[in-house]
Amino acid sequence: MSAHEGKTDYQIQDFEPVIGLEVHIQLQTRSKLFCRCPAGFGAPANTQTCPVCLGHPGTLPVVNRRAVALAARLGFAVGGRVHRRSLFARKHYFYPDLPKGYQITQFESPLCEGGAIPILVEGGEREIRIKRIHLEEDAGKMSHPEREGQRDSSVDFNRGGVPLAEIVSEPELRSPSEAAAYLAAVRQLVQYLEISGGRMEMGHLRCDANVSIRRRGSLEMNPRTELKNLNSIKNVEKGIEAEIIRQHLIRRGGGPVTHMTLLWDQVAGGVRSMRSKEERPDYRYFPEPDLPPLVLDDELLKHAQREAGELPWDIRRRFQEDWNLPAADAERLTRTRPDACDFQSLVVQLSAGDGRGSDAEQAVKTAANWVIGDLRRILRRVLREEGPCARRPAPQAMAAFLRLVMDRVISGDTARAVLEVMVQTGRPADQIVKEQGLALINDEATIRGWIAEVLNNNPDAVEEYLAGKAVLKSYFVGCVMRRSDGKACPRTVAMILTEDLAFRKAKGGE
Ligand SMILES: [Zn+2]
Repeated sequence: MSAHEGKTDYQIQDFEPVIGLEVHIQLQTRSKLFCRCPAGFGAPANTQTCPVCLGHPGTLPVVNRRAVALAARLGFAVGGRVHRRSLFARKHYFYPDLPKGYQITQFESPLCEGGAIPILVEGGEREIRIKRIHLEEDAGKMSHPEREGQRDSSVDFNRGGVPLAEIVSEPELRSPSEAAAYLAAVRQLVQYLEISGGRMEMGHLRCDANVSIRRRGSLEMNPRTELKNLNSIKNVEKGIEAEIIRQHLIRRGGGPVTHMTLLWDQVAGGVRSMRSKEERPDYRYFPEPDLPPLVLDDELLKHAQREAGELPWDIRRRFQEDWNLPAADAERLTRTRPDACDFQSLVVQLSAGDGRGSDAEQAVKTAANWVIGDLRRILRRVLREEGPCARRPAPQAMAAFLRLVMDRVISGDTARAVLEVMVQTGRPADQIVKEQGLALINDEATIRGWIAEVLNNNPDAVEEYLAGKAVLKSYFVGCVMRRSDGKACPRTVAMILTEDLAFRKAKGGE
């Protein structure tokens, strides 16, 4: 499954990677973290700023309670200790995207510590522990457009002060694919919690990775490098892999790996140095004098805990345990909260009132196969070819469709065609089947008539069958199907034919 399969040998060598991720999550709030400026993107440059977020003298920041509540929700969701009291600090560094010369963040006393996120890896679940979650404000955005042949630099402070929650993992990830799985889990979680859009291509999530390698089985701590600018899950995997190979080559050549900040260059497909240890900014942290300690009251804590709700991995485990679904299926059915809710209602609809009892597990399996397989494929194709007219059938409509399949009113091929029309038009399955005359013929008398006709027309074959040539049964089934123009229900044909042949055999033996 991973991109590096068969490409490198670092995993079977005597070194193992030690990877920790820092994920910046843009919290979904209307205003910025410490002022009333709008937090949305896309406005003309520098139109969403004020003296507070630009740090003019004499202004005072006031913390956005909504951002605090969303970060606390994340803390509860990962099972961390959400502290009643935490502190803000100023992180001083000088860069043109930082109008104040410092960034307000949390340092020694973060909002939340501890907790874990389970990820799905080959062979099952693995828990990645969380070190901390803290609040901080975003910086501005630099760009370097070319104007009349000259490179220019401009800065947009609209983003400065937008609320971020930074979630820092322990360095427990052991491969690029695990890092990718972890980031996917964080993205899924923030979408479930509705605290962030979670779309990496829109900058809702930004990821840095700390990477080092060590001798397999040892606990040595080696200098790590910090990999910045990983702006998609694929780039996280590729960037970390490139960095592991780079460090591996250095170690094999006998050289030491030095502490560096690196940028992943998507175009070149490699890492390049951003600054070496010598140039590394010496971050100086001071307590933020303008903000009082952040104190969470009971109401906010209780609310945040309640809003955390049922988590993606809980739902995944429940699907596995209650319905005996394989882990991979349960994972596919719970990728988004709407996916999980729809499948849940579909199962409720299917098992409602028709007393299937022991068939319940089989019904869930059939439903899972259709939802994961054909429905997803048809939706994708219709969406691509016909655009937004494609609609996912509501759970009730899907349940009605699946009943037709399970009761063998329609064949598998017909079912796929019916589902496609449902996706295109939103019409119910039974209507489509009725209008187009797609239902299979299940009428016993009609089928008995065709069977008698076929057997009477093939006396030699019947004789051979009675003499022991059992394979001829499928030939008879084929003849009956052709006689019915493919409309007879194959299961009913097989059942009645078996009965009929057994009767003839018994009679012949008398
Ligand atoms: Zn502002």
